[in-house]
Amino acid sequence: MKSSTAANIAAVMPSSWSTANRPSVTRFSTCRVAPVRGLSSMKGVRVVVVGAGVVGFSTAVCIAEALPFCSVSLLAEKFSPDTTSDGAAGILFAAEFPDIPLERQRRWFKNSFDHLLDIAQSRNSPEAGVMLSSGWQIFKDVPADKKPFWSELVIGFRSMTDAELKRFPDHKFGQAFTTIKCECSSYLPWLHQRFIKAGGQVEQRKVNSLQELSNAYDVIVNCSGLGSKQLAGDDEVHPVRGQVLKVEAPWLKHFIRDGDGKTYIYPGIHSVTIGGTRQEGDWRLHVDEGEAKSIVERCGALEPSVSRARVLSEWVGLRPGRRNPRVEREVAQLRGRRVPVVHNYGHGGWGVTLAWGTALDALGLVRMCLHKMPQRAKL
Ligand code: FAD
Repeated sequence: MKSSTAANIAAVMPSSWSTANRPSVTRFSTCRVAPVRGLSSMKGVRVVVVGAGVVGFSTAVCIAEALPFCSVSLLAEKFSPDTTSDGAAGILFAAEFPDIPLERQRRWFKNSFDHLLDIAQSRNSPEAGVMLSSGWQIFKDVPADKKPFWSELVIGFRSMTDAELKRFPDHKFGQAFTTIKCECSSYLPWLHQRFIKAGGQVEQRKVNSLQELSNAYDVIVNCSGLGSKQLAGDDEVHPVRGQVLKVEAPWLKHFIRDGDGKTYIYPGIHSVTIGGTRQEGDWRLHVDEGEAKSIVERCGALEPSVSRARVLSEWVGLRPGRRNPRVEREVAQLRGRRVPVVHNYGHGGWGVTLAWGTALDALGLVRMCLHKMPQRAKL
């Protein structure tokens, strides 16, 4: 008998698809990130990662596994289940960032997708909260770009047929594909364990300024999401408020997303996430009952059975909005010392999608810091 996930995939996947047909990729599997050679003289270099969301933990794991000769610590004010990442629907796809070369965005997406696909297809899948998810993205007007940059990186991407679109009479165009859903309430504790296994150390603490860290660490990696507004003094970072509900609707097996990004139904492992809102500059963290009602109505218009589902929980999160994510290195003057800082924040509504890919870039930047470090600090 086919598993329900396998049946799901078959429903939207072209029959010609197989793993063998996918483009070949560099795999960073559920196995450790390969240790970097040739830097062993860096023994004892102290690296600190600030942030315990999906970006912070992904980055910390990549660094701890690839640079076992460094001592890696992670500091954060909030840990799972209290981060923004915890409440994200965690579905993998993305919008284009305006000023980042598409090739780089494609690499971020691909490295994340392939890393999570390995987990989804392994025995770690239930514990890590990572699963394949098939469904439809539908549009009221035919979009100018019918094939987003990630269309060849997900599985079986195709336009929907007229027969399929009949189910959605208000929509003129649609895309069917299989992607991944990564549920951070499971994935973060799983990454946390993986980090500890790689020798990492964790401390709960609010960092009031990067200056505080300048004496105790040789390299600072800032993954503080929305916190970077204050910590990096970055006025470009702003909240994009999102409200969702978790409902009990085990009969729903396919995701449905309106192309405007505001209304979606994402079946997960234990519940179905329905949403949503995208409110730029809105800091309100409480649930708005009027918005909850509107979400149920909008989702009910796409899939009427949603209106009959029992509500399990309601949640609000603030996406770390920024025109482009900031994944770059700088040397900061902190308490009279020049300290390398690697920034990795500002992923907006796509932090789960891009976390592993940007973490690998951040790892590359940390390596660059080590190469440029004076010999004294390496000993
Ligand atoms: P966070 O998860 O916010 O973590 C930030 C960390 O930094 C926390 O540990 C915090 O305590 C710490 N920190 C901050 N400041 C300090 C400080 N001064 N000192 C110490 N620690 C500090 N993305 C997707 O890819 N797919 C989706 O389907 C999706 N759905 C979403 C739905 C909603 C409703 C919302 C709100 C978001 C959604 N997102 C989705 C976006 C995603 O949640 C974010 O992009 C992602 O969580 C950002 O991760 P992060 O690690 O940068 O930030």
